[in-house]
Amino acid sequence: MPLSLSERMARIKKVDTKPELVVRKLLHAHGFRFRLHRRDLPGNPDIVFPGRKKVILVHGCFWHRHDCPSGRKVPTANPEYWVPKLSRNKARDARNLIRIQTLGWTALTVWECELSDSGALAARLVRFLK
Ligand SMILES: [Zn+2]
Repeated sequence: MPLSLSERMARIKKVDTKPELVVRKLLHAHGFRFRLHRRDLPGNPDIVFPGRKKVILVHGCFWHRHDCPSGRKVPTANPEYWVPKLSRNKARDARNLIRIQTLGWTALTVWECELSDSGALAARLVRFLK
């Protein structure tokens, strides 16, 4: 069945406001240049600064179990499937972070809920990249 206009708009909006894109735009606005999704680094980090040996990981709070209201949400449908799956996501993130650091890289995790305060987020990004 074809999608209605409002359904299509909703999808487009969702893509445009993807947390990673918001962070990328902020970085561009501050003049930073970076690479995307380096496959040779553990966990395929979202945003990579090869010269600085720094990476930025942009995580959705729900999927990556942030310690915030969205990250603590438990799915009501099929919790016996979701709860262990989400815990595995979190454990995998922790493992990847350690592996990245072991290779001599510095990582910054940006959470979806931090995007609501773009001023504070921009300051955090600039501090990390200095
Ligand atoms: Zn969060």
